[in-house]
Order: sequence, then structure tokens, then C-alpha cells
Amino acid sequence: MIYHSTRNKEERADSRSAVLQGLCRDGGLFVTDSLSDCGLQVEALLSLSYKETAKKIFSLLLGDYTEAELSDAVEKAYGNTFSDPAVTPLTAIGDSWLLELYHGPTAAFKDVALCMLPQLMSKALGGTGRRAMIVTATSGDTGKAALNGFQDVKDIGIAVFYPEGKVSDIQWLQMVSQEGKNVAVCGIRGNFDDAQSGVKQVFASGAGEVLSKEGIFLSSANSINIGRLVPQIVYYFEAYKALRRKGTIAEGERIDFCVPTGNFGDVLAGYYAKRMGLPVRRLIVASNANNVLTEFLATGVYDRNRPFHKTISPSMDILISSNLERLLYDVSGGDTELVAGLMESLGKTGRYEIGQKLLSAIRETFFAGCADDGETREAIRQAWEQEGRLIDPHTAVGYRVMRQLKEPGVPCVLLSTASPYKFCRDVYEALYGPLPGEAGGFDYMEALWQKTGEEPPKPLRELRGKPVLHREVIDPGEIGAYVMEKAREKLA
Ligand SMILES: *Cc1c(COP(=O)(O)O)cnc(C)c1O
Repeated sequence: MIYHSTRNKEERADSRSAVLQGLCRDGGLFVTDSLSDCGLQVEALLSLSYKETAKKIFSLLLGDYTEAELSDAVEKAYGNTFSDPAVTPLTAIGDSWLLELYHGPTAAFKDVALCMLPQLMSKALGGTGRRAMIVTATSGDTGKAALNGFQDVKDIGIAVFYPEGKVSDIQWLQMVSQEGKNVAVCGIRGNFDDAQSGVKQVFASGAGEVLSKEGIFLSSANSINIGRLVPQIVYYFEAYKALRRKGTIAEGERIDFCVPTGNFGDVLAGYYAKRMGLPVRRLIVASNANNVLTEFLATGVYDRNRPFHKTISPSMDILISSNLERLLYDVSGGDTELVAGLMESLGKTGRYEIGQKLLSAIRETFFAGCADDGETREAIRQAWEQEGRLIDPHTAVGYRVMRQLKEPGVPCVLLSTASPYKFCRDVYEALYGPLPGEAGGFDYMEALWQKTGEEPPKPLRELRGKPVLHREVIDPGEIGAYVMEKAREKLA
């Protein structure tokens, strides 16, 4: 299975190497040209379980792994890690549908991919004699999901950097209470961008070369890795299967999806599902106040030169949606020169513009809308008061946009990306106003539970009273030295 760069078809790797490498050497993203002729029989998936469907899709897109390796990886990733037997159950919200992606160990959709990626990495490493150090900056959700997924995986260590004081109380405790011999968690004095650029500097510095002499290479768990993208394709098929089984749709009947979007990974997985044969009509891209994608889909101009808004849906506070590069590659018919030029322009000026032809091709499938914090709070209230569904702020952005754009008679599936209890303060305040005094995360968790009767996920409830195992806080400039030290310690 050949993957190559979005910017140059000669920059190639098989699927195992692409998973280990993450990003192409030329800065492009790994893509394959065989999505539409991969030979998937959608109808044949109907009788399969989640795990069987996952295995089928992995074997088509990650063909350099053996069947036995994929079976083992799928069993470890989804065997008993998700609290719902369906893994990603589909439930009603009014006359539409919620695809619940938050039943994993850390209560956000990133678990679906980050339970699998470590398995894929560890199998690809097997027998090479090499060891990997994963270095990742997080605004909150990726960090915990990655820590959980990589915990005690053989020959892999992981260091996660979060902006001190800028993640939710629950997210902080999730990370600093992380157990495992191979994990390091560290606060950064600064914001997410400082943590992110500190991490990027480590990759650009000589640290990687020094470590490689010791048999250790640096890698990342961020969402541009195909090992994160492929597992996300699976649940789009699961949504279709669930609607078929319920008798809501007939064979081949097309459905819409609405996806709360940041880095464009989740919604791109839906597009890949469509290219593989899933009957998808529209993909609706829902953004918060950082609505760079809404504007792009309206005008063809991508411009990151704008104020950054800190919102109540922080995992979507992103101005550079990296995975959009893969869509540009695909809709341009694989024009690597064009993509390389656009990305160069983005790097230099923070802006690029695509022609009308390309824009029209994108708009055949993609629609977009956005919601600010006030509209998001209103959507949380509407969902609860009118439909009896408690949703998190990211899902609420999608709910608002879905209500605006959905068409009667076409089933629409909204991807629900996090448990409301991960953001219980903002959800509670949207519904009932602030608690008096200096209430903390767990006070809000209790209060939201009492008022709504909706039970918080067990892993979040059990956080209360967990010991803090990681107390270090450093400056962004110290990340390099920290990574070197931890790589040697954790992979000794
Ligand atoms: C990461 C995240 C998103 C955005 O997903 P992308 O793949 O980056 O578009 C949305 N909601 C939640 C809760 C997230 O953690």
C-alpha cells in the first residue's frame, strides 16, 4: 500500500513507515491514490461488528500489516476499552442523529484513533530494534487520549506538554494523574501556541539526530498521522449501518454528516469514507468563532491572519487546519505542484486562494457554518430543553450549524465529539448559570449530574481524589532538554 506526499509523488512510504514517520520529509502529508478503487463492498459490512468493520477498513488502507497484526491491534484498541458495546452508538436527537464518539477511556472522540495508533506504531517498530519517543503538545483532549493509548506500550515513550493553567480542571487532573512507566507529563509556562512551537523546535533541532545514534527516534501523535485518520473512517460506516439496521434509510440512500471541526481530521475521514463508497451526500463543517473554514468554503480564500478567539469549545480553537491539505490534493486530481504552492503561500503569508473550479468541486460535498459562544450556549439549552439531550460545547457548535443547514427528508448525523462532563462548568453555566462561591470542576460535575440525572462517565468520576503524579512546569525553551532526559529515562 503506497502512500506519498501531497506535495511530491516521489516522496513515498509504505503504510507501516508512514505511520511511524507521521509527516513527510518535505512537510507534506501522506496520501494514497487508491481510495475509490479499494474494492470495499459497503453492503457486506452490514452484518459485521464494529471490530470486524474496523479490521476490514484497516486491511484495505494499511495493507502492509498482516491480518494477524491487525486483529491483535483491533482487539487491544476496542476489545474492552469503550464503555458501550457498539463502541460509537447512534442515538436520536429530535429528527436527526447523534453519533456518540465519547465512550472511550478519556471521554473524547480522539480515543477512537488514539487507542489504535499506538498498536499500529508498536507493530511497525517490532523487529526493527528501534524505539520511539512520542512528543506532543496539547490544548487538552489529545494529551490525555495519547497518554492513555501509549501507556506501557513496549519500546515507546511519550512526553505530553500542556499550557499550565489553560486547560479545564478535569482535563488537567486527567493528565497529571496519568499512570505508566513510559509516560511524562509537563506543564508549559505560556499558552498552547508556545507549547506547540516549543515542540516543533525539538523536531527541528539536533535532538532527533543525537537520539537516533542511541536507537531512539522522535515521532508525534498529532492528527496528521494516517494512523489517526484511518480509524476515524470506520465510524462513518458504523453510522450508515446503524441507520440501515433501524430501517431509517434504504440501500444506497445518501445521508448528511455534520462535524464539529478544528484541524479538519475528523471531517476529512468522512470524505475518505465517501470516496471509499459510503453513500454520503453532504459533509457540513461546523466551526466556532475561529471560523477560518467557514470563510474559506464561502470565498475560496484561506486566511489565518485574524484574531485568535479563546472559546468554550477549545479543541476547535485552531487557525491552521492541517488536514485541509489532503482535501486540496484530492479535489485537484492529485496536483502536487498546486498543493505545494498553496502551502508555501500559507507558510509565507498566512494566506492562499483557490480558483473557482476547485472551490466548486469542494462545494459539491462540503457545506459550512459557524457559531460563537453565545450561540453555542443557546444550542446547549435547546438540545437539553427541547430534545432532552445533554451535549458538550463542541457538539453544540455542530448542533447549531446542523439546525441551520439541514434539509427536510435527508437524515443528518451529528458527530458528538466529547462527553458534556469533560466541559461540565461551561455546560452547567449555559443551562443554569454559575454556581456560587469558588466552585471547582467536581462541584460542577456533581451539580450537573443532580440537575439533569445524566450520569458522568466512570473514568471522569473516578478522577476525584486521584494523586497528582506529574508536577513539573517548565519554560518552552526547556522542552528540548526535557525530551532528551525523558527519552533516555523512559526507554532505558
Ligand atoms: C479535536 C476535537 C475536535 C476537532 O476535531 P478535528 O479532527 O481537529 O477537526 C472537535 N471536538 C473535540 C471535543 C475535539 O477534542
